[in-house]
Amino acid sequence: MKRTAIGVLTLALAVFGFGEVLAAPQYVTMGTGGVTGVYYPTGGAISKLVNQKRNEYNLRMTVESTGGSVFNVNALMNGDIEMGVVQSDLQYQAYKGLGEWEGKPQTKLRAMFAIHPEAVTILSAADKNIKSVADMKGKIVNIGAPGTGQRVNATDLFATAGIDIDKDIKVEGIKPAEAAGMLQDGRIDAYFYTVGHPNGSIKEAVAGTRKVAFVPVSAELVQKLVAAQPYYAPADIPVAQYPGVTNTENVPTFGVKATICTSSDVPEDVVYKITKEVFENVEELRKLHPALEVLTQENMLQGLSAPLHPGAAKYFKEAGLIKE
Ligand code: GLU
Repeated sequence: MKRTAIGVLTLALAVFGFGEVLAAPQYVTMGTGGVTGVYYPTGGAISKLVNQKRNEYNLRMTVESTGGSVFNVNALMNGDIEMGVVQSDLQYQAYKGLGEWEGKPQTKLRAMFAIHPEAVTILSAADKNIKSVADMKGKIVNIGAPGTGQRVNATDLFATAGIDIDKDIKVEGIKPAEAAGMLQDGRIDAYFYTVGHPNGSIKEAVAGTRKVAFVPVSAELVQKLVAAQPYYAPADIPVAQYPGVTNTENVPTFGVKATICTSSDVPEDVVYKITKEVFENVEELRKLHPALEVLTQENMLQGLSAPLHPGAAKYFKEAGLIKE
């Protein structure tokens, strides 16, 4: 009996190798954003790719809906999650110890790769006639719950426009998944969402009976923001993706990139396998959500400011995407 067991184990080791027989699967949790955003379905798309190879990779990936970028950075640093979607501006600030992390650089933060571009989007009720950032004075504006990326971008935009957020704006801080409904119900006049297009939240708001309009950010304001912060770039909201919105032309604003981050505590082989799986299937990933259609292996290496995780760097070198 004993001999047979040892025989089976020896055979198994010979066939599969040590790791695969003995190692328990590695669980990887990815922090995303609200369910009506783009992070959450993107996390689902990535985990679908990785989990198809669960036995080969000995990995199990799960996706969690979270507060957003700021929450994800903090959860990564606490070891609560192994991967997280983080706006490029917040990746930069967290690693350097700026903004939310003033004086507290998050030195364990590591970049894996970038995904889709995100536009700082302001959606308003058309009956409020908000034609500019200045027109939001005196209005009830959801700048986003603590933990979201949009809350940081809205604060930055109002400061740059010389608007006192505490005195001039009636600030709300609700979750992105609730914002569309609150705009429709008349409980808010406008909301911020830093997000890829098209997305479920804006579609939901546009489909309601209350007419909605995007608020443009003037070229002058965009210029000021881009000049002051290296991570901001001009962006446009494509109105054709939202039939029924009252704007007739694409709406100018500023934007960032969504990126996938991890921690230096996550093992190299785990990050390597996930990076490889994603990069070898960019074509498929592009089909899994319309906001991901623009992805290329090249643009997925842009917008990263924290050091690359060694597992990601290993794959990029192997694939000839970066130099040794
Ligand atoms: N950019 C948003 C944030 O960081 C999330 C957008 C999304 O979920 O697609 O909070």
